[in-house]
Amino acid sequence: MTGQLNLVVLGKQGAGKGTQGQRLCELHGLAHISTGDMLRAAVAAGTPLGREVQSVLDAGLLVSDELVNQLVADRFKEPDTAKGAVLDGFPRTTFQAQALEQLLGEGGIKLCISIEIANDLVIQRLSSRRICQECGTSYKDTDVAAISGTCEVCGGDVVQRSDDKPEAIQKRLETFDRDTLPLLSFYESRGILVKVNGNQLREKVAADIDGLLHGRGLA
Ligand code: AMP
Repeated sequence: MTGQLNLVVLGKQGAGKGTQGQRLCELHGLAHISTGDMLRAAVAAGTPLGREVQSVLDAGLLVSDELVNQLVADRFKEPDTAKGAVLDGFPRTTFQAQALEQLLGEGGIKLCISIEIANDLVIQRLSSRRICQECGTSYKDTDVAAISGTCEVCGGDVVQRSDDKPEAIQKRLETFDRDTLPLLSFYESRGILVKVNGNQLREKVAADIDGLLHGRGLA
């Protein structure tokens, strides 16, 4: 597993984890593992898992560690993870980070990229965010795809996420500070944490990330 390029992208909601994660996957041939996308797909498909987690997602709370740990472990059995993966929205708690470390082995994660962004920008971005229910592509409310309600990538329905409403956004920010922020010291202690300023245009964030990967001999 240590030959794989596994990257953890950490950051508050709306920091650009999905956008940057997707881009890194295309660039390096990696699998995009977004636990949020997987859980939303289960909700949209009305599976037993989806029915179990829907109210938790709507409230902006976290689903259980055991459940997401299992989802990720199963996902790593799929062939598209051969070269590695970008983990987006996972891990979100110290327990999840420990489980991931166990799953991938020592040195299994090459870098944790923390995209840092101010809370007022989070609120602004999430309130205007629309996503494709099918493939997870993200749009702004003023984009053609958002206005027409049809995804430009796959033709799926473009909607506002139920947890991108004000009360849930606030709850998710609190959850991030309490449960996910401690992961910065977790990855720092392993010498693999890098920080990127997310309060910039996506192209600049992308260039900063590429520079950091290059600097570490990972790209
Ligand atoms: P996201 O798209 O990453 O913001 O995730 C949306 C929602 O899915 C979160 O607010 C949680 O309810 C749930 N979720 C996603 N990833 C995790 C995770 N690693 N641990 C617990 N809950 C998660």
